[in-house]
Parts: sequence; structure tokens; C-alpha cells
Amino acid sequence: MTPETKICQNCKQEFTITPTELVQYNKIGLIVPDICTPCRWKHHMAFWPFGKFRAGKSDLSGEKMITILPDNARYPIYTSKEWYSDAWDPMDYGQDYDPSRPFFDQLKELQEKVPRPHQQGAQNTDCDWCDDAWESKNCYLSRSLVKCENLLYGYRAFGVKDSIDISHIYTLDQCYDCTYCFSSYHLFFSKNCRDCIDCSFMYDCRNCSNCFMCWNLRGKSYCIENIQYTKEEYEEKMKSINLGSHADLENHKNRYTEILKKNVVHKESFNVKTYNSIGTNMTNCNNCTNVFSWEDSENCINCLRGTKSKDCIDLTGSWFMELSGNNSACTNSYDLRYSIWCDGAKYSEYCDQCLEIDYCFGCVSLRKKKYCILNKQYTKEEYEVLKDKIISDMKERGEYGKFPPYSMGLCSYDFSTSCIYFPEVAKDYVRQLGGYWDDAHDQKIEGIQTSEIPDLINDVDSNFSKQALICPVTGWRYNISDAELSFLKNNNIAIPRVHFDVRTKNRMVTLSQTKGEAYKCTYCSKDIVGYYPKDWGYEKISCDECYLREIA
Ligand SMILES: [Zn+2]
Ligand SMILES: [Zn+2]
Repeated sequence: MTPETKICQNCKQEFTITPTELVQYNKIGLIVPDICTPCRWKHHMAFWPFGKFRAGKSDLSGEKMITILPDNARYPIYTSKEWYSDAWDPMDYGQDYDPSRPFFDQLKELQEKVPRPHQQGAQNTDCDWCDDAWESKNCYLSRSLVKCENLLYGYRAFGVKDSIDISHIYTLDQCYDCTYCFSSYHLFFSKNCRDCIDCSFMYDCRNCSNCFMCWNLRGKSYCIENIQYTKEEYEEKMKSINLGSHADLENHKNRYTEILKKNVVHKESFNVKTYNSIGTNMTNCNNCTNVFSWEDSENCINCLRGTKSKDCIDLTGSWFMELSGNNSACTNSYDLRYSIWCDGAKYSEYCDQCLEIDYCFGCVSLRKKKYCILNKQYTKEEYEVLKDKIISDMKERGEYGKFPPYSMGLCSYDFSTSCIYFPEVAKDYVRQLGGYWDDAHDQKIEGIQTSEIPDLINDVDSNFSKQALICPVTGWRYNISDAELSFLKNNNIAIPRVHFDVRTKNRMVTLSQTKGEAYKCTYCSKDIVGYYPKDWGYEKISCDECYLREIA
């Protein structure tokens, strides 16, 4: 097989389908896409609401609920408890297939009638102000969390306790403002660290304790800016550092940014225990190509943000997927194609928010069903005949093999996860593709400007959590929660000056780069690809071999 060159239907740029991709598409039974990989990811993640937490009411009972879904949604929203109950039946919305009309139009009509749950997730206690939360307890304003407790403003967290402002985090306790860190305790303002205790402003450090503003360190204690001190010297020097002062904190943040540019040796990719793979931020992956923020997987291609998957292509937001492709936010599924928000789906295509289904085509919000099309029940034989007829009609119209159109998205693009990973996408691009954009969210709000907050956390009184603050970036109102205020006071950290969703988006910048740039290894001058945009100004990028030798 030879590589196929195509012109992307969305961005009009040339792109290539490699022989390896062709093999995978055939194996999974997918139509080879006519849009490039970044355009596929943008499309997928447009179906994944990041949203803005709001209070709303169930369209079934009027019961109050907190949701990230928009208040002008095109579809009914039930509380997830109601959605999972027998109070309604998704089969009541079943439609006959009309061969004279495009299939996507019919699927969209069905989608607009069938209720969705107000929140993704299950088995939580006191996690009302969360989304995509699983087996978690007492978490607040957090998204995508598994087995977390007392987490505030978290985004993609596994097993995190008593922590605030963290993104892509695994097993942390008492941490603050961390990104892509693992197994650490009392770690503040740090990125890409593992096994660190009582440290702040660390970058790519492992097994360190009592260190401040260090990089590329292994197994060190009492270091400041990578200089070794005695315990006494360290404690003396730390007395002059006051993270409880906003001005002081900002200076340290600026110094950290400077160090990332000038001092840090950045590994070409940030993969750990990963073999024969291309991409970055992979852990325990084998034979994965063009894969990012992905763990414990093998034979995956073109995948962004997921874990525990095998033999897949073109997935975003995945968990336990096998032999599947061109899906967004699907989990525990096998042989699933062109679907969104399905869990436990097998041998199915074009399904939305379906659980434990087998052999379904174009269904919405079904649970434990087999042989359904547009939420209507068929026998096995009828199903096969009608499905083949629809696929052949779709092929004639050029629909089959395409992901559901942007017009079926669940929220406006600027409030979707796509906006986190691809903030550069313009309104025109989304609108031309039939998507939504909601920039009308300016509202008059009461509150104080964050410039009026006292510089020192010690000068903020314990009633401060009642004070409404206005984010200078978005104009949105936000508060400091009681738990947050006591964490900040106990740990002497200044009050954050911008809205928590802005903080999350800022943390995600370093984790959302999927475009490789050409660099020369800082040690051996070999040509390498680093996932660091040139305008970040990182001066030292190392090939894997030299990094292993010099830093380990
Ligand atoms: Zn494109
Ligand atoms: Zn090198």
C-alpha cells in the first residue's frame, strides 16, 4: 500500500493517509476520512461540552439541577437520576426511517426529542457541581474525575484528595495549581513532576522533597533553583519567600516561565514506559502513533486524551475501547463507530448517549437494547436489511463514514472541550460547518474587581468567601469557596485573581499541543520533533537518548 494524499474538506490543507492508517481503518471497518486528523479531533471534541456550571431545572419534573449543558439546549434535559429511572422510555421516541431524506437530518430530529442526563458520571456522593465524575466524594466545580475526594476546580483527575486547581493529575494529596503530576504530596505550582513532597514551582522533577523552583532534578532535597543547600540554609532562605503575597507570587510565576525557556531541558516527548510510539504525554503505551495524553494502551492511532484502549483509530476522550474508531467520549465499547457518549456499546454505529447496546444504528439515549434503528425495535433479520439499506442510501448521499455533523453538537463550540485543545479555531470555521457559537454571555454582574483584593492572604478576612469577584479576563462572577479559603490561608497562598475556568484553560495550554516542531537536540544536535510551539521560546530540547543519559 502507498500513502494517499488528500485535501481536507474542512481546512482545505493537504494531508496524508499512511499505509498503517489504511490497515487500521480496514480492520475496524471504517470509511477512510476526508478531513485531516486535527479537523477530526476538533469535530469530535465539539461534541464534548466543557460548558459553564449553571443552575437549571429538569424538563421532566422541574427539579433543580446543576449542569454544564446550555440553558438554550436543542434537546430535553432530565436529572441523571430521572434519566436512569423507568419514569420514561426512550423507545417512545422511535422513528421510521424515511429513505427520501438525509439520514443525519432524521438522527438530529430524534436527538432533539430524546432527553439527555444533566450530568455525566455515576456513584458519586456530594458531587452536584461536577461533570463526568465517577466514584468521587465531595468535589466541587470539577470535570472528568475518577475516585477523587475534596477536589476543587479539578480537570481530568484520578485518585486526587484535598487538592485545588489541578489538571491531568494522578494520585495527588494536598496539592495546588499542578499540571500533569503524579503521586505527590503538598506540591504547589508545578508541572510534569512525579513523587515530590513539600515542593513548589517544580518542573520535570522526580523523588524530590523540600525544594523550590527546581527543574530536571531526581532524588534531591533542600534545593532552590537547582542549588543544593543544607536544611538550615534552605529554611533560612525560604523565609524570604511569601507566596501569600499576590505580588511575590506573580514574581515567582514569571521566574518559573523564564526558567522553562532558558534552563529546563525539555524531553522531545513526555512519554514514560512507552515503546515504539509517536506523540507525547503517554504512559504505558505500546505501538501508538500520533497519540496524546493517553495511558495503558496499544495499537492506537490518532487518539487524543484517553486510556486503556486497544486497536483503535481516531478517538477522543476514551476509556476501555477496543477495535473502534471515529468516536468521541465513548467508553467500555467494542466495534463501535461514528458515535458519541456511548458506554458498553458493541457492534453499533451512529449512536448517541446509549448504554449497554448491541447492534444498534442511529439511536439516542437507549439502554440495554439490541437491533434498534432510530430508537425503533426490529428483529435481527429486519435490522440487517434496513441497516444495509440505510448505509447504501447514506453512501449515495456522501453521508456514510462521516462523523455526525457539527449541527448535532451539544453546546456551542466556544463552550466545548475543543476550545480547550484548539483555542485558535475561529467562529467562521465552526459556523461554516454548521456548528454553534455563543459569544453573547456578557451580563451585568455585581462584585469587586480582583485588583481590589488585598495583596496578602493574611489581610483577607474569613468572610471573604461571601464576596463576589469579577474575573478581569471573562467578566464572569466567581467566588472563593470556604474550603478554598481555608486551604489558601493554611498554606499561605494568595487569592487567585481570575475565574476558575480561566485557570483550568491556562493550565491546559501545555497539555494541548499535538503539533510536532523540528528541533535539534541540545546535546547531540540530532534532528528531533518536540511538542513545544516555537513561540514558547524553549531553548533546550533533548533527544530521548541524551535526556536519559544526562537527566534519567
Ligand atoms: Zn483539516
Ligand atoms: Zn541527543
